[in-house]
Amino acid sequence: MHIAEVTTLLQKLEKGDITWEQALVEVTSLPNVWQTKEWKQKRQVLIGNFCAVCKITEGPFVLQHLFHCDSFKEICQTVKEELRIQLLPFIREKVTAADVADHVGAGEKRLACPTCGSISLRERKTMYPPYLCQKKGCPMPMFETPVSVRYYLKQKTTDRLEAMNIALPFLLSVAMVTELRKYDNAIQHEATLRSLRQSLEYRSLKHTATYCKICAFKEDLPAIERKEHAQFMQELR
Ligand SMILES: [Zn+2]
Ligand SMILES: [Zn+2]
Repeated sequence: MHIAEVTTLLQKLEKGDITWEQALVEVTSLPNVWQTKEWKQKRQVLIGNFCAVCKITEGPFVLQHLFHCDSFKEICQTVKEELRIQLLPFIREKVTAADVADHVGAGEKRLACPTCGSISLRERKTMYPPYLCQKKGCPMPMFETPVSVRYYLKQKTTDRLEAMNIALPFLLSVAMVTELRKYDNAIQHEATLRSLRQSLEYRSLKHTATYCKICAFKEDLPAIERKEHAQFMQELR
């Protein structure tokens, strides 16, 4: 079941004797655990004579794994999420009020409706009053003199406070992405360590129980549905 091989890989990776890429290549090149002779033998020994769920004593029985390994991608996402939470206070400090003001800028001068503030106006050359506010539901859509406002192009608003409130989370996420990128290698290193540890847990057969085929199928059902759902989502992209 290659427990010794995986343990050695884990130790080497922990010590920094190999890279996470090397460890990943080696562990994925190992045969599937359930194809090994040792596994089949151990499974025979571990299978009991009644189902752990429904207690039925008539076989056939299977050895159900109660522990499932996450995919490398899933582990990477978990590690990244933990890191994101750790980095958040630092990112919040990094993005200053001045940065936000800078990003919002001075705005462009635009003419606006004096009643509702909309910048969507039409000037009529031959009719009076000359201005028509295009905003639906404007209480005074016709007027003589527009007011001058600042329009914040990136945030699509004339309200400076609103523009700041839109800009802040945007700048935080940009800063976070930039910061996280520096940890790409560290994230994958940590994910490989966790993946190897999960693999050892799985291979140990410690987290198994005897199930009848029906109970095994029922328990695997959510996993099957999850898989199908993931596939479905992938196809949508
Ligand atoms: Zn059962
Ligand atoms: Zn208006």
